[in-house]
Amino acid sequence: MSLARIVVKFGGTSVANVERIRQAARHVKREVDAGNQVTVVVSAMSGKTNELVGWVNESSKLHDAREYDAVVASGEQVTAGLMAIVLSEMGIPSRSFQGWQVPIHTDDAHGAARITEIIPDELVRRMQDGVVPVVTGFQGIVPETGRVTTLGRGGSDTSAVAIAASVGADRCDIYTDVDGVYTTDPRIDPKAKRLNRIAFEEMLEMASLGAKVLMIRSVEMAMAHKVRLVVRSTFDDPEAPQIAPDGTPGVPGTLVCDEDEIMEKQIVSGVTLAKAEAKITLRDVKDKPGVAAAVFGALADESIVVDMIVQNISDDGSVTDITFTVPDSEYDKSVRVLEAARTSGAIEYARVTGSKGGAKVSVVGVGMRSHAGVAASMFKALADKGINIQLITTSEIKTSVLIDDEYAELAVRALHTYYGLDKEDA
Ligand code: ASP
Ligand code: MG
Repeated sequence: MSLARIVVKFGGTSVANVERIRQAARHVKREVDAGNQVTVVVSAMSGKTNELVGWVNESSKLHDAREYDAVVASGEQVTAGLMAIVLSEMGIPSRSFQGWQVPIHTDDAHGAARITEIIPDELVRRMQDGVVPVVTGFQGIVPETGRVTTLGRGGSDTSAVAIAASVGADRCDIYTDVDGVYTTDPRIDPKAKRLNRIAFEEMLEMASLGAKVLMIRSVEMAMAHKVRLVVRSTFDDPEAPQIAPDGTPGVPGTLVCDEDEIMEKQIVSGVTLAKAEAKITLRDVKDKPGVAAAVFGALADESIVVDMIVQNISDDGSVTDITFTVPDSEYDKSVRVLEAARTSGAIEYARVTGSKGGAKVSVVGVGMRSHAGVAASMFKALADKGINIQLITTSEIKTSVLIDDEYAELAVRALHTYYGLDKEDA
């Protein structure tokens, strides 16, 4: 029998105090007792990183980013040490590793560093010796300067996936305070079902559309390196039999995996909602090459992230309309930028109109690739509820509409039912 090599990661709520670290450690013990090789990755105690960031800002608004990292990386150092102590007390040989001790190399973009290389030899050797290494998530070191870096908020998911890829793990289990990925937000539709499996690409869409279970970069990395992820709850009984969501023995939670591992592909796997989307329209924009580049270039220069974009063809080839969305928080700034560009003559158009507070509802599913008519059926389901569609965008595995905020929850529930996601066996 070949035993598994697993990386398990615990988020901030899972290590919020020593009692919870003990609960988390019991999950590690179960995997070790089953004969698996395990490396643990930990976040800081929940709220700790915010507190550390607060202290840095209180010390100086204009601080050195390298010292920010020195302070903010400390949260994970505490939980890694505590986890190693708790595991050892349970009879599981363990030791902590800070990022630089592994080592986890990053670039020098302090505060938002990217992992460039992990040298896995020490971790692998420890695991083979029956020791459980506990690694600090969220941090690394710049090899050229020797300075500690952090990966950006929520970065410990990315640490875990990167470590899993480097040690050739069979699985990376992400323990959190929810028990998996759902067909939609259960707070919007109580009939939401936990998914047994979801494809990397679907997870990526769901994550960017607002399902906050995993940091987007970690899913991108998992997809690139084909690291199978499991999202599961720390608060499940660690000693209970391990049952997958489909009722078979297996890993509880949702497996995020390659499309090929999903036998029965749903046309739609999930329905997501993103609120506070502002819509901006430029009327009578000159219809000539370079205009879209000028409009969106001006916004990009101000670091404004644009989401949906719709441009009409013009009747007579002279002027057209362009509509797009930005987060509500960027609305005023966007309008200001565009008005300034008109005044300076950089962009030629008649007027800018728009409104805040729209809602973007999307259906996501890899099955859409091979099924015609998903967009049409979505529009029909919304029409049946009398919901007006303002904007539409599609990708290979996603169809999104912008609608009035008032109908957002109704739309999510209608689509969830329409695509059969309420059913027990979905
Ligand atoms: N502790 C870090 C944060 O709060 C990293 C993480 O939790 O993933 O952002
Ligand atoms: Mg976190």
